[in-house]
Amino acid sequence: MRIVLDTRKCVGYGECVALAPELFDFDDEGTGRCLRTEVPPGSEETARRAVARCPARAIEAA
Ligand code: SF4
Repeated sequence: MRIVLDTRKCVGYGECVALAPELFDFDDEGTGRCLRTEVPPGSEETARRAVARCPARAIEAA
């Protein structure tokens, strides 16, 4: 599974960072960013939850 975070949509709520700090972080301006694009084994469900919880729908997983 791969994840992509659209920084143009992100509004910095931080749901993804709180839920999956192994996958997401903030950049220096408070915008979310992916720490990795390839989701490691065992973190797929967490990644799907981050997609569902993002209020800006800025994260996609495929
Ligand atoms: S949950 Fe969505 S809006 Fe919030 S920081 Fe993450 S990507 Fe940005």
